[in-house]
This record gives sequence, C-alpha cells and structure tokens, in this order.
Amino acid sequence: GASLQKEESTADLKHNQGFKGHDMLAPFTAGWQSADLHPLVIEKSEGCYVYDINGKKYLDALAGLWCTALGGNEPRLVAAATEQLNKLPFYHSFWNRTTKPSLDLAKELLESFTARKMAKAFFVNSGSEANDTQVKLVWYYNNALGRPNKKKFIARAKSYHGSTLIAASLSGLPALHQKFDLPAPFVLHTDCPHYWRFHLPGETEEEFSTRLATNLENLIQKEGPETIAAFIAEPVMGAGGVIPPPATYFEKIQAVVNKYDILFIADEVICAFGRLGTMYGCDKYNIKPDLVSVAKALSSAYMPIGAVLVSAEVSEVISSQSNELGVFSHGFTYSGHPVSCAVAIEALKIYKERNIVEKVNSISPKFQDGVKAFSDSPIIGEIRGTGLILGTEFTDNKSPNDPFPAGWGVGAYFGAQCEKHGMLVRVSGDNIMMSPPFIISPKEVDELISIYGKALKATEERVKELKSQ
Ligand code: PMP
Repeated sequence: GASLQKEESTADLKHNQGFKGHDMLAPFTAGWQSADLHPLVIEKSEGCYVYDINGKKYLDALAGLWCTALGGNEPRLVAAATEQLNKLPFYHSFWNRTTKPSLDLAKELLESFTARKMAKAFFVNSGSEANDTQVKLVWYYNNALGRPNKKKFIARAKSYHGSTLIAASLSGLPALHQKFDLPAPFVLHTDCPHYWRFHLPGETEEEFSTRLATNLENLIQKEGPETIAAFIAEPVMGAGGVIPPPATYFEKIQAVVNKYDILFIADEVICAFGRLGTMYGCDKYNIKPDLVSVAKALSSAYMPIGAVLVSAEVSEVISSQSNELGVFSHGFTYSGHPVSCAVAIEALKIYKERNIVEKVNSISPKFQDGVKAFSDSPIIGEIRGTGLILGTEFTDNKSPNDPFPAGWGVGAYFGAQCEKHGMLVRVSGDNIMMSPPFIISPKEVDELISIYGKALKATEERVKELKSQ
C-alpha cells in the first residue's frame, strides 16, 4: 500500500552496495537480466555468520545452501585443503590410477553409513552429479542383469534432486521442468508425502501413508513392474518446503518397492552427517537403501564434492559383468579430487570428534520448539521440521487450501525482513526454509528466534494492511 515504505518491499530490495546489474546469468535468480538488479554480495564468514561487502553481519540460517555444517571459518578444514594443495593439488582417479585422499575418504564414508552395509563409493562434485550417476548405475545394473526394459524411475512431487538434465527430471518441482522440455520420459512422479497439505478429512498420518503406498503400488502395476528400475526419495524433503515423512511412510513405501524388485535410492544430500540428529536420514527412518547420494556437508561445503554409495548386491552385479560390458565408462575429471577428499576426510573426523550428531540432538529442541512457538500466528499455515531443518508455510486461515495471492509476496516480504534484521533464510513462494550450521550455539538460536519473531510481526502487519485495501 501507499503507506508502506517502498524500499521494504522485496521486489525493490536494494542492497545499495554499488553493484548495479552484473555479468552473471545467475542461478535461480529472478530478474537477473535487469540492469537494476542489486545482488547481496557476501564477502566473508565467521562461524554461523556471513558478512556482506559493506560489513553488515547476517546469521546464516540456511548454512549457505543447507551445506556449511561446520560454519564459516573452521581452521582445520582450511589446513587440510592447504596441506593437500601443497602436496598434490590434483590427480585423477581414472584407469586404475588414483590418490590416497580418495582411497581414504571412500573407506571412511562407507564405514560411516550403517543403515545397511555399503560396498563402494563413487565420487562426484555435486548432488546433481550424484543423482545423474545413480541413473546410469541403475541402467547399467539392469542391462547387466539382462532386464533392458526395467529402466523407469519413480520420484515424488515436490522433491529436489538437482538441476542437471536427469536430476532436474527426477525433481518434482514444475519450475525445473517448464521451458526445459523436462521431465525426461523415463521419470514418473508419485505423491508428495505432505500430510498437512494432502490428507483427506479424518485421515490419520498412518492411513495417509497407507494410501500413498497403495498409490505407488497402483502406479507400478499400471506401468508394469518389469519396467520400473528405481525409486528415489529424500528422507526429509528439503527444497520442496521441508517436509518430514508422516508416520509409517517409509516402512510402507519400502515394502512396495521391495515387493517389485525396485532399487531404493536415498538422496541424503541435505540429510546426511547429522542434519536430522542422526548420522544419516536412513538411520532416522529405518531406510535400507540400495544406493545413497551425498554431497553438501560431506566437506561442510568448503570444497565441492559428492558421492554415490553402492550396496554390495548392486556393485557385485556390476563388477561381475564388467568383463562383458567393459568398464563403468562414467566419471568426471574431478571425481575424487584430492583437495576435496582431504577436506571431506577432515570434516568427517571433526563430526566424529565433536559428537556432531549428539550436538545437533541437544540443540535442536531449542530450535524446533522456539520457532514452532510461532505456529499460532494467523498468517502461518504450518511450521514443520526435525533436527536442524525447519520450514514455515504462510497461508491464510491456517488452511493449506487458502494461499495468499502470489502478488502479495508474503514469503518474500518475510525474507526481506529477516535480511533487514540480519538473518538469511531461503524463500520459495510462501515457504521459508532454515537449516543452520550444526555448530549453532544456544545464544545464536535465541538470536535466530528473535529475528524470526520480528520478521513475522512485520509480515503480519503487512498482510493486515494488504487485506484492508
Ligand atoms: N539433492 C538434494 C536433496 C538437494 O537438496 C540438492 C541441492 N540442494 C541436490 C540434490 C543437488 O545438489 P547440487 O546443487 O550440489 O547439484
């Protein structure tokens, strides 16, 4: 409205740092074409905080992009990188040549995953590359088994698996498909397990999970089980709005997947290494996957690295066929990059030494309860999360069916208010997401809650004003 300060509306949020427009085609950035774009330019980090080029300090409530688990300036990670850079900045892992850090990291990583014994680790540089690799592994596996028709993937609506062609296809977010001629035809999507939004009147969480498992089974039967190769899921959905699974969901989904000889891929890119208060999301939800994708916190994001973990059963099929089919002709120049691996080894060591999983468990009730205390706000539909991951969804009348008009930009306004008060969160429509570093202190959680409260109050005022117009 006219009375609102213009600079407070997000569309006009100017960071006023002398950067007007820039030369990047910036990822996931609205208005990147505009010469009037004023990006927030981050210059340095310290613990759970980042600073922009004007020296303004922000609590980094998303840990970068859900990834800087150990915060901004962990000296041991810097030392590990520096030491490796001085010793051997690069060698590859092709043709039976490799480096010590990649061998050591593979061993450590496989030992860290205990939900089911994993036999091999394949290194990549990102979550997207991990999930693309999954698809090629699964196809290779079914070709090796003489099942050339068992090639389709089932993913879930609202999932996020990355933005390369195949990872974007697996993702269940329309913006990743529209205008890109995606998803690829071998990808099918089943229900998003969001109880609050999708349950039927009177349906319990368990009944909701049963219905979703039945829907999955119906989809498999309709397509033909002999055509379905794998099912992929994030233990807690991240970018889709932070959606923890409803009670009994994974138990029931896994039973269906197993019944039809379909591989289960756990996309642990956000959940792994302690985010949920367990080493892996699979531990929390008793998932026994055949394949696992990790990235992000693997190196606390100090260097780009991801990995695919492969079960003994799958890797045996692949290796037993290797003479016939030839080598697994897949890999990247930087697969197992020694500097990334050295940093990841150190990050895993720190997680262990500092009991990071217990640390997350001890801080997370304060974080979860503190933010969930705002659930009664008239503009909040639902606050949901577990461990150190939390989503807020703004809706009218506390109902999943009454979104605010998109033009109101309620979520964006809240995000801009957080920024104004010194905190960075993720905004996606009217969904707000937070996943602070694992090292967040009680005092920093208090600050997070305080800024959240101020931003919420301002957003409530804004909605009141918009409604009265
Ligand atoms: N899977 C999940 C669950 C993710 O959250 C992400 C990234 N947010 C990816 C895959 C893709 O990872 P990247 O951006 O490193 O390619």
